[in-house]
Amino acid sequence: HIPDDMTTAQFMLDYHHECKPISADSQANPWVIDDATGKSAGFAEVCFGSLYRATYIDAVGWRFVTAISLTPYLVEDDVVGIFSPNHIDYPVMVWGTHRLGAIITAANPAYTADELEHQLSATKAKLLFVHPWSYSVAVQAARSAGLSADRIVLLEVLGETTSIDGPHVTLNQLVAEGLAAPQSFVERKLKPGEGRTKLAFLSFSSGTTGRPKAVCIPHYAPIANVLQMAHLANSATCPPHERKWRPGDVALAVLPFYHIYGLVVLMHFLIFYGESLLVVPKFEFLSILKSIERYRVAFCPGAAPLSAELTHQLAQVLPQVHIGQGYGMTETSTTISFPQIEQKICLPGSAGRLLPDVIARVVKTDGSLAGPGEPGHLVVKSPSNALRYLNNEEATKETFDDGWVATGDEVYITESADVFVVDRIKELLKVKGFQVAPAELEGHLFNHPDVSDVCVVGLPDDYNGELPLAFVVPSVAAAERIKADAAEAARIREALMKHVADAKVHYKRLAGGVEFVDVIPKNPSGKLLRRVLRDRAKEMKEQG
Ligand code: AMP
Repeated sequence: HIPDDMTTAQFMLDYHHECKPISADSQANPWVIDDATGKSAGFAEVCFGSLYRATYIDAVGWRFVTAISLTPYLVEDDVVGIFSPNHIDYPVMVWGTHRLGAIITAANPAYTADELEHQLSATKAKLLFVHPWSYSVAVQAARSAGLSADRIVLLEVLGETTSIDGPHVTLNQLVAEGLAAPQSFVERKLKPGEGRTKLAFLSFSSGTTGRPKAVCIPHYAPIANVLQMAHLANSATCPPHERKWRPGDVALAVLPFYHIYGLVVLMHFLIFYGESLLVVPKFEFLSILKSIERYRVAFCPGAAPLSAELTHQLAQVLPQVHIGQGYGMTETSTTISFPQIEQKICLPGSAGRLLPDVIARVVKTDGSLAGPGEPGHLVVKSPSNALRYLNNEEATKETFDDGWVATGDEVYITESADVFVVDRIKELLKVKGFQVAPAELEGHLFNHPDVSDVCVVGLPDDYNGELPLAFVVPSVAAAERIKADAAEAARIREALMKHVADAKVHYKRLAGGVEFVDVIPKNPSGKLLRRVLRDRAKEMKEQG
């Protein structure tokens, strides 16, 4: 049974509490642990909006509380941005907002001001939670998006004193105000069925084509995915100590909460399942190794495809450890397939088995359905699927159809429902697990006077997965300069790489290089033949 009459806040804080009573003692059962300081928050503190206010619990009682006083700033269905690395107050920001019937859009804290401004403008955000590390970019982006600086809510970094002057408010102020006047808050409750359409998140993804777009995710979708994952976990036949997840274990939360995986699987499923999240704001390899030891981390999720070869290598180095990968995407918020709980080492190269309640179609290029083991385009129906792209009918039509999502991925599925990802059909590149939309980089490169035509594809890369590589037709003037002086090609190449690096977050840089070509291959109607250039990039990789 997947409840369709509640927000994620009610599901996680009320329903969750009712259906699986867990200790209110944050020391015994922390939900989130701050990596740097070891401070933790459990059910009570999350419910109450802040670590520092646990003393209020007895005074006010547990239910119906979002201690953050957001009411003066928001009305129903307003959008609230989060611009922060992983932080232990993330659940508070999300569920506090959902308690009011408002919507969360979470952004990559490494974004440049332009990138953040795009997200704030596209979603018409009315309030922005900001981490002090990201404050100056946030202020700049907010100004361009027409959001006044007093609509910025500043978080606190545990163990650091932040003194930033400005008209913003702080999360702690809102918590204090909320706790002082809890009766001023009216919780938004949902009618039966309303959870299927009432929006919870606007997460960004470029989908099969074009620039990043807001994906409309209703409350029902993440709740469904949590229960699908929980069903998988509970159907395990192996003894509890051999399972991948165990209530009471500590899971590493370094994958970003702004991305659908961190948001749904870490922040909702793992907490629901009774694990504690070790909240790490930045990936620093050695420091993470130390934290794994210090906090006895038992579950470490990753974000890149796991090849059969890598699975074998890992299994040799870490013979005690369960190894596997799942598959999913923002538009299916989140997981579509996952390894079985009793399976210690996944089938090499497999992305796990379809979750309960997922229906998959594998469609061959001629439109017919593939049989077991035959590759084709994956189209899936899952109760966790998103509804549409925001204000973009054309892209919506390409991807969403009556509960089905066209993934843009080529897979084959075996008789036993094990999924193997073969290739990506869509334009999207993935660099270290981050989405890069070629159309976004092409649009930006077109603005450069030396570019007359351009196509960006992925250069396969063992460490990063792919790297953005631009095939560029130089403008007439640039071509003449190159003809006159061969060294000019290198100068233009560098200028184009800088043009991208100056405007975009680090993983969008043209680290795969710039290749000059005479023409970009197109079909007679002018449609870019990306495939040809992708094959060329693969050849380049093979030739080293
Ligand atoms: P995102 O929306 O950022 O989560 O990106 C989703 C995309 O990541 C999918 O459509 C796939 O192209 C890719 N992806 C997800 N899981 C896997 C996997 N196990 N192996 C290969 N690609 C994957």
